[in-house]
Amino acid sequence: MSLNPFFEPSTLDYELPPFAEIREEHYAPAFERGMADQLAEIAAITADPRPADFENTVVALERSGALLRRVVLVFFNQSGSDATAAVQELDAEISPRLAAHDDAIQLDQALFARLDTLHRQRETLGLDAQSLRLLERHHTRLVRAGARLGADEQRRLREINTELASGAAAFRKNLRAANKERAIVLDRAEELAGLSEDAVAAAAENGRALGLDGRYVLSLKNITNQPELAQLTDRALRERLLTAALGRAADTNGPLAIRLAGLRAERAALLGHPTFADHVIADETAGTVAAVEALLARVVAPAVANAERERAELAAAAAADGITDLGAHDWAYYAEKVQQSTYRLDASALRPYLELERVLQDGVFFAAGLAYGLTFTERTDLTAYHPDARTFEVFEADGTPLGLFLADFHARDTKRGGAWMNELVQQSELLGKRPVVVNNLNIAKPAPGEPALLSWDEVRTLFHEFGHALHGLFSAVRYPLFSGTEVPRDFVEFPSQVNEVWMTWPEVLANYARHHRTGEPLPAELLERLEAAGTFGQGFRTVEYLAAAVLDLAWHTVPAGVEIADAEEFEAAALAKAGLDVPGIPPRYRTTYFSHSFSDDYSAGYYAYLWSEVLDADTVEWFRSNGRSVRDSGEVFRAELLSRGGSRDALECFRAVVGREPDTTPLLARRGLL
Ligand SMILES: [Zn+2]
Repeated sequence: MSLNPFFEPSTLDYELPPFAEIREEHYAPAFERGMADQLAEIAAITADPRPADFENTVVALERSGALLRRVVLVFFNQSGSDATAAVQELDAEISPRLAAHDDAIQLDQALFARLDTLHRQRETLGLDAQSLRLLERHHTRLVRAGARLGADEQRRLREINTELASGAAAFRKNLRAANKERAIVLDRAEELAGLSEDAVAAAAENGRALGLDGRYVLSLKNITNQPELAQLTDRALRERLLTAALGRAADTNGPLAIRLAGLRAERAALLGHPTFADHVIADETAGTVAAVEALLARVVAPAVANAERERAELAAAAAADGITDLGAHDWAYYAEKVQQSTYRLDASALRPYLELERVLQDGVFFAAGLAYGLTFTERTDLTAYHPDARTFEVFEADGTPLGLFLADFHARDTKRGGAWMNELVQQSELLGKRPVVVNNLNIAKPAPGEPALLSWDEVRTLFHEFGHALHGLFSAVRYPLFSGTEVPRDFVEFPSQVNEVWMTWPEVLANYARHHRTGEPLPAELLERLEAAGTFGQGFRTVEYLAAAVLDLAWHTVPAGVEIADAEEFEAAALAKAGLDVPGIPPRYRTTYFSHSFSDDYSAGYYAYLWSEVLDADTVEWFRSNGRSVRDSGEVFRAELLSRGGSRDALECFRAVVGREPDTTPLLARRGLL
């Protein structure tokens, strides 16, 4: 066991986990020892005969769990990105154990007594701002976890947390199974008429990977609206594809969602909140459910009106094809047609100008150079966790090494859907750690030797996820609890959304949008049409997002003890009540495949994207109009916000950049809702 690579800190640069040595059988023993070590460390804190002080209690708590942290970060990166059967099994087994482990610490009466004593003396301890905040955050965390409750209530809380953790793992597993089982299998390439050659090749490759040689498989993406719906000319196939997506995991995750929502409601009640959403949002920047509902409500009516205008345009185009009952499965297809005819914008005409490597190097990295002075060097000498993942070293303007950025862009069978950022090493001065971060996307892997040509949305995702990466890379905090993206959930999408601004920043766009063969720049005419198309499609996108956000909130504003009979009926009623039962626009996620809400820790938090976007749109305005150079603005944004992680109040960081309270006007303008 002495060979387990998790047992000692990595000796690689930046303490990059030693992936070349890590094997699946190392995880379980590392989790075991990691949990045992941390419990021993906590026991040492509480057994300390000296009176509690900041160093022997709060800092000691921050230092605890080093081994566990190493294995958790690596394991959960793999469980999202390369979940083999063994990893999925361990995920299901270890998640409830980790929840119980957290409870063992958070509900430790002796530990809480020490923290509570310090918390009462906090003003007289002579702490600097970051240390004072650390004490307050730990105290709040324990109180919110139930540290003040009686023994019986705590026992029930532990049971609930364990069941919630295993339920979340089961939700993920059911969804993976349903995605596989409901993939569309076709015999002939002609059935895929309308898809690009690349997409047909990818479907054939999916077939091969599943042992269905010579057949074509449309695998399901996590969202409702499958990207192929915009191109498939066969209407019946479009309907079949959408139906497969909409009905995913209904039999398994429907009842499970009811159970999970019920447990969360009970948990919130034990902790003194009327609903789970109240409990969650109390600790977010929004503060109250009412504040969230007010923002959502403000956007619903104009968004639906926009979508209805879009529908009229699409219905006219569909009528020309003899279709008089435009359905949800027709929406994306005719949106694409209208975009081509009205705005003469053909999504496939853009792709040759959006080649992955160029977008990454000459777009994303170039923009980070422009705004922050960063440079990037690929480190092929360092081994990542999967052959598709690449490793880049990131340097400051003056050449100082900053951290590592891993890029894992391609879809594969073992990767979950969507795009996300993970940290493999979290920056903290206390532990002497520099950041190692990962971006995961799901770009279809091109045939060998072929370039990966992106859609406009995929380019946006690349910039977006890199915004999260920067939040991790720029972290310059003392304590691990505050590292990088450890900020309120309804704030964490803000820096990533701001980074999308560079995608169309003229200097950046001109640098990356070049034809992959000829090197020709994106024709000005194409760009003009792109701008003219502007907010077309925002009605649909805003409505499908709002429907999901409202659904997430609805599930988590049911008080404890209220029985929900049927997930589908509950969903329909919630959407109708909010005025979001718009024909042809199903929610971006339905309940049974809404991982954000039921298994990814975004429960009662899907509103966060819109909430963050208020700050984002406002900040983009600031970048455009503050009169400073891009580089100077970048420095301010970095110093006052990106580098602070959770070490300072989130809205205080915002105000330090923009100089005032947030304003919703730029958001409404951007989404065409004014
Ligand atoms: Zn994001």
